[in-house]
Amino acid sequence: MNDRDSERIAGILESEGYLNTDKVVDADLIVVNTCSIRQKAEDKFFSQLGRFKGLKKRRPALKIAVAGCIAQQMGMAIIKRAPYVDYVVGTQNIHAFKDLNALNSQIITEDNPQILELNFRSKRKNTLKALVNIMYGCNNFCSYCIVPFTRGREKSRASEDIINEIKELANKGYKEVMLLGQNVNSYKGDVSFAGLLRYIDSIEGIERIRFMTSHPKDLSDDLIEAFGRLKKLCEHIHLPLQSGSSRILQLMNRKYTYEEYLEKIQRLRGRCPDIAITSDIIAGFPGETEEDHNLTLKALKDIEFDGLFTFKYSPRAGTAASRLPEQLDEDTKDRRLQEINTLQDEITEKKNKRLIDSYLEVLIESPSDRAGFDFMGRTRTNKIVYVNSKNSIPYGSILKIQIKKANRHSLEADVERP
Ligand code: SAH
Ligand code: SF4
Repeated sequence: MNDRDSERIAGILESEGYLNTDKVVDADLIVVNTCSIRQKAEDKFFSQLGRFKGLKKRRPALKIAVAGCIAQQMGMAIIKRAPYVDYVVGTQNIHAFKDLNALNSQIITEDNPQILELNFRSKRKNTLKALVNIMYGCNNFCSYCIVPFTRGREKSRASEDIINEIKELANKGYKEVMLLGQNVNSYKGDVSFAGLLRYIDSIEGIERIRFMTSHPKDLSDDLIEAFGRLKKLCEHIHLPLQSGSSRILQLMNRKYTYEEYLEKIQRLRGRCPDIAITSDIIAGFPGETEEDHNLTLKALKDIEFDGLFTFKYSPRAGTAASRLPEQLDEDTKDRRLQEINTLQDEITEKKNKRLIDSYLEVLIESPSDRAGFDFMGRTRTNKIVYVNSKNSIPYGSILKIQIKKANRHSLEADVERP
């Protein structure tokens, strides 16, 4: 979501005549787009900001703007702490970058329903894969999470706007879209989320559709049915579990039990046996006992996710979980995180090894960032494939390739004749 916002901010600034520079000392304007999902992100931001203080002193004409979730959450408090910041632009007010000088306040963080209609030029980072917002905000209030406070209430874009944006992307040669929303299943445009997928599936030129993220509590039958049926919908779902203990899930306000989650996984796999499932886990939520933690480890063994994003619980100001009395010490959280990661690493590697010799569809995306390989691509299940080829392969090609080797985080293949 932040990456997409950065693309839009860059696009707006470019259409206002700004040029991008890699050298911070050359900049007339520095925009820091921030994340506040965990304390670590917030700490990184303030240390980064500190480095700009000297620049501003030497060159008072330099403007510094802070955008994103920390901007939304802290507002004026940022300028109190760092008086050399000129503007604080919240998550729903990106349009302010159109004319910063015209702002009558340094802080702009109000609710803005017009976010849905904003259609400024954006400077996309990738030429094959595009991020497309389908909704903004979140109404779920999971007890640990700051997103509902920093991104506001759910707002869905009209399907027509989304489809027009994707048609335009297809015309420009984009092959893949990643639909973005905190919880795509609560998409409430003029069609259901599954309905939206059906429309997008028919757009010529687009070959792959992905989305992020789907909340397990309302993963609909309609969506499960779409897997394996819609040609372009990739066989991958990111479905955050958070904990394998139903007691902790309740404290997290996730609104599903572990058993209900498992049942959804079984239905997804029943519908689409090769689907890759990835997830998020939080280690050390307040009050998590050794028994709860063991249930999470057991869940990982039972489900065998294709990959996992793991997070050490981080108390966020204003959230319900931060007020729970039984906050765990850092050592316990660190150890549990480590145990989760070690177990999952084995599982990921084991699952990848099962793919050796199989033929998978790979979208060739870029030159290899790893020495010894020519290209990098991804399978429909979102696994990275490093490819060797004597001949050149145009980026954007989609090939069926036999997997020769599997590592923990990637697969390897040779292509004789593309
Ligand atoms: N809307 C998405 C999640 C967005 S946040 C969803 O519900 O799936 C991405 C992940 O960050 C969450 O799934 C959670 O695992 C993690 N996370 C959020 N708040 C956190 C916190 N306070 N401490 C640790 N991890 C957190
Ligand atoms: Fe946060 Fe829960 Fe909303 Fe995801 S669904 S953004 S975890 S509150």
